[in-house]
Amino acid sequence: MRILGLGTSALALAWLVAGDASACPKGQKRETHEIVQGDSLSEIGAKYGMSLRELENENPGLRRDSILKLGRKVRVCVAPEEAAARARAAAREAAIAAGEAPVKCGKGKVILDYKAVSGDTVGVVASRFGLREADVQGRSAALKKDPDSLKAGQRLELCVDERRANAAPECNYETPIFEHVVVPGEDPSDIAGRYGVRSPDLFRWNRGLKERARRLHAGDKVKVCPAIAPRVRDKVIHKVAKGENLGVIALKYGLSPGELLTYQDGKLKIDDMLSIGQELIVWVDGAIAPGFGGEYDDDTGVLKKGVQLAPGPYYVVKAPVNAWGTAKTVRLIQAAVAAYAKRSNKGPAVHVGDISKKGGGKFPPHRSHQHGRDVDVGYVLKGAVADEPRFLHAGRSNLDAERTWALLKAFVDTDEVRYIFMDYDLQRLVYEHAKSAGESQDTLDELFQYPRGRGRSHGIIRHWKNHVNHFHVRFRE
Ligand SMILES: [Zn+2]
Repeated sequence: MRILGLGTSALALAWLVAGDASACPKGQKRETHEIVQGDSLSEIGAKYGMSLRELENENPGLRRDSILKLGRKVRVCVAPEEAAARARAAAREAAIAAGEAPVKCGKGKVILDYKAVSGDTVGVVASRFGLREADVQGRSAALKKDPDSLKAGQRLELCVDERRANAAPECNYETPIFEHVVVPGEDPSDIAGRYGVRSPDLFRWNRGLKERARRLHAGDKVKVCPAIAPRVRDKVIHKVAKGENLGVIALKYGLSPGELLTYQDGKLKIDDMLSIGQELIVWVDGAIAPGFGGEYDDDTGVLKKGVQLAPGPYYVVKAPVNAWGTAKTVRLIQAAVAAYAKRSNKGPAVHVGDISKKGGGKFPPHRSHQHGRDVDVGYVLKGAVADEPRFLHAGRSNLDAERTWALLKAFVDTDEVRYIFMDYDLQRLVYEHAKSAGESQDTLDELFQYPRGRGRSHGIIRHWKNHVNHFHVRFRE
C-alpha cells in the first residue's frame, strides 16, 4: 500500500513537472476544464482557442482519440480576458437563473454573452445584432487590437436589444423558440405554414420529426423558430347556421377548408352535407403568445459590401443603379432565375426590379429595400406584354400562372426566403393552377396564405397591398 501510495504521488509529481514544462503561451492562464456530457476534444479546443496538438501537449496521456470520462479534468490555456469574460458570463447566468433581471447597458438594452460560431467575423456579428462594428469590439481588448482575431467559441459581451437577448441561438437570435402543440389532423406542412417556415426547417429543429411526420398525435410538441408570431389558440364549437358550408365557415375563422376538415378528426368528409345546428370543432387563434410579437423593425438598415446584380441570362435588370444586394442575395436571385429557366420551358426573361441602392439605406417610395435583402420581381405574363420590362398589372387575362408558379417555386426552393408578398387574388390564380397541375396539397398548405383570407398570416407567400404588378421577396439574414 505504501509503495502504491508513493507511486501515485510520484506519478502526480511527474505530471506536474511535465505540465510546468509545457507552459501556456505568454499572457495566458492555465485552468482546468472538467469534462461534461457531450464534450469532445475539438469542442474544448474551439472553446478555449486551442488546437488538438496544444491540448495534447498540455495534458500528457491525453490523445485526440482518448475516451473522455465525465468529470475528468483537462488542463487548458486561457487568455486572461477570455477567462474573465467567462467568469462574468457564468455570474450573470446564475443571477438570471436566480430570477434577477439581466444586466442593463442602455435604454431597452442588456448584456448578451455571445459565443462566436464558425464563420463569425466582427462584421457578421455586427449585422446579426444590428450593431456597429465598434460596438462589437467595444468590450474586448483583444478585438479592439485585432478585429480579425475572432475565433469560433470565443466569448463576446454584446450590448443588444432586450428582444435579441431573449432570442435563441438556434433561431439565429431573431426569436425565442416556440413550442407548438399539435392539434388533431396537423402535419408538418400545416405547422410550417402556420409559422411561415418550411418543413425542412422543422426537421432541423426537431430531431426525429421527419421520421414520424405522418404519425403526429394531438398534444405532441414541435419546436419552431417562428417567422410569423405564434398565437395561443382555443378550441371552440361552431354550430352550423343556415346557408353555411365548409368554405364559408373556414374563411370566417381564417382557416382553409382543409384545415377545418382535419380538425373534425375523421368525423366529417369533404362531400358531406352540413346540417343546421351541426357542431364543428374549430381551433381559433387568439392573442400573440407571451414573450413573442413586438416584431423588431427588420425593414431599415444599410448595405455594407454590397454587390451589384450584373446582367445575365434569362433576366433583365430594370434599373442597375438600384440593383445592389448582399452577395448572398445576388447569388440567390441568379440561382432562382437559373432554376426558373429550366422549369419554365424557355419562358420570357425574368424582370428584376429594385433591390437596394448602393450602400443601402432609405429608399423611397419603398418601405424596406434598405439592406440588400429585398427584391421586386415581375410576374410572368402571357402574350405581347410578356417581354415588357415595366411592371404591369397582372390578372386572369394576362398572368402566365404556370410560369409564375415556376418562378415563385424557384425562389422558395432556395430555402433562403423569409417571405414573398403577393396580391391575394393573384395567389388564388397561381394556387388553383398549381393544384390542377398536380402540386401536392402539403406544399400548397405550407407555402400559400390562400385560401385563408388576406387577413390571416400563414405561409411564406402572403398578401400585402400594392403587389399586383410585382412580387416582393425578402431573403433570410
Ligand atoms: Zn418591394
